[in-house]
Amino acid sequence: MPGLEPDAAPEGEPDGVRRTVRCGLCGRPLTGAGSRRTGLGPACDAKLHPPGPDIPVRRREPEQDTLPGL
Ligand SMILES: [Zn+2]
Repeated sequence: MPGLEPDAAPEGEPDGVRRTVRCGLCGRPLTGAGSRRTGLGPACDAKLHPPGPDIPVRRREPEQDTLPGL
């Protein structure tokens, strides 16, 4: 495209507009505001923070096997 400087990064940009924030996990540049805030991409954020409580709550105490034949 004419009129666009490919790699020029002028210093006069407003703060936070052009700053590249990268995912803390995979290093990909983040685009979403939420991703920038958390510092993680959506995929990695989902990995670290699963949406639902998928892990069953352990209410049982660990079963202790009585040693057989003692
Ligand atoms: Zn990531």
